[in-house]
This record gives sequence, C-alpha cells and structure tokens, in this order.
Amino acid sequence: MKIICIGRNYLEHIQELDHNSNIPPEPVFFMKPDTALLRNNEPFYLPDFSRDLQYETELVVRICRVGRAIEERFAHRYYEEVGLGIDFTARDLQRECIKKGLPWEMCKSFDYSAALSPRFLPLAELGGDVQKLHFNMELNGELRQSGDTSKMIFSVDKIISYVSRFVTLKMGDLIYTGTPVGVGTLAHGDRITASLEGEPLLDIEIR
Ligand code: MG
Repeated sequence: MKIICIGRNYLEHIQELDHNSNIPPEPVFFMKPDTALLRNNEPFYLPDFSRDLQYETELVVRICRVGRAIEERFAHRYYEEVGLGIDFTARDLQRECIKKGLPWEMCKSFDYSAALSPRFLPLAELGGDVQKLHFNMELNGELRQSGDTSKMIFSVDKIISYVSRFVTLKMGDLIYTGTPVGVGTLAHGDRITASLEGEPLLDIEIR
C-alpha cells in the first residue's frame, strides 16, 4: 500500500502559501510510506523536529483495482469510496526544503503524518460525482477549512491518469487530493474534527 499526495490543487491554498502563486501545469505529487498512517482517530503527537507543524485537510480516494497508464475517461473505474485525511506537514522544514531544492520526505513523510478516517463512504451514496463533494474541518470547534471538490485544479480522474503514467496504482492505495485554503499551525491540546458531506469522520487530539 502506498500513499500518494497531491500538492497545490486548490488556487486559494497556493495563494496563502506563496506570493508568486503559479498554477502548476501538471499535478504535483509526492508519496508517504505506510509508516506515515495514523489510523482510528488516534492522537497525533507533535514531533520535536518542527516548530510549525500544520494540518492540511484533504479528500482521500481509495484505489480499488490495479492499473497503470490509465486513460482519464476510464479513471472513475478505479475508485468507489472516499474518506478524509490530514496531511500533517512540518511547514518550517518544508520551507527549508523548497529553498534548497531538496526532496520533501523529511517534512511530509514522517511517522503518523497521514491521518486517515476510520470510515470511508461509498461514492454512490454521496451522489456519485467525486467533483461535487463538500468537506469541513474544525479546529477546537471553529471552522478552519471548507473544501469544495469542484474547485480542484486537477480532477481526481486527471490525477489518477497522470500519476499512473509514472507509478502503477494498486488496490488499497490512497490518494490525498490536496488541501483547500485555511491551513494552520497546531498546538498541544488542539482537537481536529472533520466531516465529509455532513458525516463526521475525523476526530483527532493533538498532544
Ligand atoms: Mg497536502
């Protein structure tokens, strides 16, 4: 099982991160190892190597069959369920990586950096269109991120088609599809809750 993450997939989030807000011409992706998974709404422990650990709430698509070089028009056959995840990011280390042109594993792929909702919802029960979904994330009960998948720069089908040119997708692989605007720094004692189409899926304590 592998975790594929898409960066820079919502315009307003790109704008909040940098001043030159370029829209990438193709999807930007990176991976996290299976040791990054944080399951069952277990608490997240702030790691000692970052002073600016941030949340990114994302729609997660679970791949349900093997495929490579998948045509965009067939990509919808490769997923049936969606959930939510947090792409925990050591933003201070990421800024250093970007400045030095280094890879992102240190700031993105550390242990427990990929929180995953215990439940996934059948897409068919949510209306069947992955680009018409809404999710909310609250920090300590206050709305911080509100995602509307129609605002993705690259659709889920485009992402699957693009990534599978380089990497074979297998059953159980997870795609974190990028975060909307509203990312922020976490502190000890914070609590993240998030819902997809009104269904509460994530409830994570920050320790
Ligand atoms: Mg992300």
